Amino acid sequence: MAWNPRRARAVRAVVWTAPLVLGMALARPAATAPTSQPAAVAPVRGPTPSLALAEHVAALKKKAPASFSVVVSPPFVVVGDAPAARLRALAEGRIRWTADRLRQEHFDRELPEILTIWLFRNGASYRRYTRELFGETPTTPFGYYSARDRALVMNIGSGGGTLVHELVHPYVAANFPACPAWLNEGLASLYEGATSRGARIRGLVNWRLPGLQAAIRARRLPTFAQLLATTDQEFYEEDPGTNYAQARFLCLYLQERGLLRRFFREARAAHGRDPGGVLTLRRVLGQPDLERFQQAWEAWVLRLRQA
Ligand SMILES: [Zn+2]
Repeated sequence: MAWNPRRARAVRAVVWTAPLVLGMALARPAATAPTSQPAAVAPVRGPTPSLALAEHVAALKKKAPASFSVVVSPPFVVVGDAPAARLRALAEGRIRWTADRLRQEHFDRELPEILTIWLFRNGASYRRYTRELFGETPTTPFGYYSARDRALVMNIGSGGGTLVHELVHPYVAANFPACPAWLNEGLASLYEGATSRGARIRGLVNWRLPGLQAAIRARRLPTFAQLLATTDQEFYEEDPGTNYAQARFLCLYLQERGLLRRFFREARAAHGRDPGGVLTLRRVLGQPDLERFQQAWEAWVLRLRQA
């Protein structure tokens, strides 16, 4: 979903305090929290959380309806109307799994602040609480990232793919603040359908394939030179309908050739002189002619099948 880089800069302005970093490294949630009385908070085993984290949780308890559960799993605080055990399973399962592997794959820096992840159990509660808690009418039925609220707001009833997609964006903001939109969304989209190979996260072919194949067959796809030259505004506002998929499957191609990690790091390092990453792409591919590369890449995409 759309990521607003201007908002991302505001997020980065907040920095962890040292005691919180200590608490983050060691704290883990423990027993099941009751769901009846004021936004029940799952106890944290280990050292007392820092004041900042305690204040954050206290503020959440005030904001959240009394029946909500809160699970602390630094740097995340997961809150929602699903049972505490379900929230904890997500916090310690999919969210932890994804964050650990994303960091290992691409991101040296942990998030510089607590990220609140609101999980609503179905579409009705998602719509109701985004209105009641944030005064917003979401433009997507799945979920979104709000830099203003430093929160992911998700309809978990729609599945976990969007949660993983949105989780990538704050890590990109923390590690490559000037990341071009095509690469930011390409990575986020890549991991919305992911598994692991050993300990490494690996994107899979997913639902974006058929639309991309149709655009290739209809010769409607922009060139990579065009896609990589888009400004963030052009990427989001002038999307011919294929930008996310084209970026995603370029990332998938690089991943399958063992080049994605190197590409992300080198694109970040070269950003000042190569803001869109086109020079880096040519170098990493070992192919100066991107039109020739695109012919081979399109043939590869057309051979892919959705699992
Ligand atoms: Zn996105």
